[in-house]
Amino acid sequence: MAEPPKISKQVLSRADQRAAQFHGGRGVTSTLRAACVIGWPVEHSRSPLIHNCWLKQYGIAGAYRREAVPPEQFAAFIGSLAARGYVGANVTLPHKAAALTLSQPDERASAVGAANTLWLDAGVLRSTNTDVEGFLDNLDACAPRWDRGPGKAVVLGAGGAARAVIYGLVTRDVEQIVLINRTQGRAEALRQQFGERVQIVRWEESNAALGDAALLVNTTTLGMQGQPALPVDLARLPGHAVVADLVYVPMRTPLIAAAQARALRTADGLGMLLHQAVPGFALWFGTTPEVTPELRALIEADLGPPPRNLPG
Ligand code: NAP
Repeated sequence: MAEPPKISKQVLSRADQRAAQFHGGRGVTSTLRAACVIGWPVEHSRSPLIHNCWLKQYGIAGAYRREAVPPEQFAAFIGSLAARGYVGANVTLPHKAAALTLSQPDERASAVGAANTLWLDAGVLRSTNTDVEGFLDNLDACAPRWDRGPGKAVVLGAGGAARAVIYGLVTRDVEQIVLINRTQGRAEALRQQFGERVQIVRWEESNAALGDAALLVNTTTLGMQGQPALPVDLARLPGHAVVADLVYVPMRTPLIAAAQARALRTADGLGMLLHQAVPGFALWFGTTPEVTPELRALIEADLGPPPRNLPG
């Protein structure tokens, strides 16, 4: 794979510039912009809470709505975004792959193989994948300088989220990425895509790979409410290691709780969820919003209290 460009905060200022070029349709004026999240189902999405909180905070005359769209109607729906009064949209399951093929994706969305953010740019429907920034910006915020010095990252999982994480790690010049997935064929496909710095270790040998890891990232669904915990022994990680978990229900996963019990630095899935929303808001509404403790508290309250059976 060709080396992707470095990702930095500059992405957002470019996003701000692009936001100024929107040509919306009916209902989209300089004073009222609207965006939405498209999914099937979509009721569970926290995106309206996040974006409407920012709209209020920055005094922007805009709206962000939920749109429940079944797969067979997705193409027609995004083909008529402007006519529906939208300048852009988030896309969630099961539409992320279709969103990629039905739009002009940037390099990030193409590399990840899925688009989660759409915007109209002079009549052209463009797309990106903001999970990459969400992952990196959250790590930067939670564990500053995590990418300084030599490092080995261990990534658990080889689904869509793992692609975004590995793409992000490659842009930050992480030297060695050890990829571990239950189904080895899926890991192999990612190694072929991202090249030699990705090495594969068998799922059964996860613990042996932790000894010299500077970063451990869980991109599997393990640890999610109703799923078993990850079968990894955090005692193997060195004391300077950072642990990131993409799962955010529960907010404090067994992996995050175990890492905190060892006083390791952590970056949780809720932080990533909040940070991945930033570029979309900047593109649609022309202001780069901040991820604040107040915003996090709002979403935490909506997600509900943590389960009582976690250590720490
Ligand atoms: P996905 O494409 O379905 O991949 C799921 C991954 O989990 C695969 O690697 C799968 O392994 C593994 N897995 C599932 N059950 C397993 C089990 N019992 N034992 C071992 N491995 C198992 O899903 P995704 O889109 O990558 O999402 C993965 C997670 O990331 C989800 O929890 C999602 O909510 C979270 N996520 C969070 C954010 C955020 O902003 N915080 C963003 C994106 C995703 P196999 O290949 O062997 O099936």
